[in-house]
Amino acid sequence: MPAGFPDFRLGSVLATSFTGTLSERHGDAVERIPTPGRLVDWLVVNGLAVDSCTPAQLDLARELRESIHAAATAAATRDALPAPAVQVINDRSEQGRAAAILTPDGERRWRLSSASRVEDALGVIAADAIGIISGERDGKLALCASPTCRAAFFDVSQSRTRRWCDMNTCGNRQKKARFNARRATSGGTSA
Ligand SMILES: [Zn+2]
Repeated sequence: MPAGFPDFRLGSVLATSFTGTLSERHGDAVERIPTPGRLVDWLVVNGLAVDSCTPAQLDLARELRESIHAAATAAATRDALPAPAVQVINDRSEQGRAAAILTPDGERRWRLSSASRVEDALGVIAADAIGIISGERDGKLALCASPTCRAAFFDVSQSRTRRWCDMNTCGNRQKKARFNARRATSGGTSA
């Protein structure tokens, strides 16, 4: 991991892991793919290895990311899907040429049409977003309860009552905030 760049937050759902590369959207936003090189790093750790990325491809990626965020947020709040966001997601999905490959041990891998086809990787991410926004996949889109985050995440818990996009960051921070608030109101004498 190159020094000086914020870490990635890795989740189990590709599309919402991708939208999570911009975190704290309602607070001090953290851009986790500030350079084409960092997008390459993110794609590699998410099984979509490319060996190069141009600034224009990074722009395409960020446009897709914000479109998925907008559409997933609308879906989570049961609002109408924003048409421009839907258009971008569909364009990226249509222009991707990745092939799903079944490995001998029964796992799925993505094979891109060339090592510099960031567009293929974006197509896979767009298709993943379509899967969760359309309700085709088992789970529920929800928004993180942290007021500085409000990230859309895909809840696959049995009870569908997950509140945080990420337990290790937003979940912990909220718990600490509640703990401190309780201490403050009780004069700091108990917790
Ligand atoms: Zn969050």
